[in-house]
Amino acid sequence: MPVSGLGAYDDANIFARILRGEIPCKKVYEDEFALAFHDIHPRAPVHVLVIPKAPYISLADFTAQATPEMIAGFFAAVGTVARQLGLEQPGYRILANTGAHAHQEVPHLHVHIFGGRALGPMLVEH
Ligand code: AMP
Repeated sequence: MPVSGLGAYDDANIFARILRGEIPCKKVYEDEFALAFHDIHPRAPVHVLVIPKAPYISLADFTAQATPEMIAGFFAAVGTVARQLGLEQPGYRILANTGAHAHQEVPHLHVHIFGGRALGPMLVEH
């Protein structure tokens, strides 16, 4: 079910539970700002999620509320993960769904990293 990218943070969302260690994940990277793990339903040979270690619903929420250190640390982690996964050649895609039109399902900011095959056009045309 798509969720809103606005409103109050829901502490019971699945990524909050992963951050608290209540449910497992297949971790690929962690630092003080971010945790990265394999998506449970991969849409590409490599499909990793990077999430900030702080309670933000969406990119807009995060960039409005988080400290500059946290924002920089999080995006640095996204780049580090892509590099460590060996995706820089021949390339990869990052994506952050926000709100209902983008079909955001988990109300904790996450950046998808897709790679491992040619990914086709940017958006499906309808
Ligand atoms: P989005 O539609 O951008 O909100 O994407 C949410 C993503 O989280 C989907 O690709 C799901 O497959 C993924 N997901 C949901 N639950 C888990 C979980 N427990 N561990 C890893 N990935 C998950």
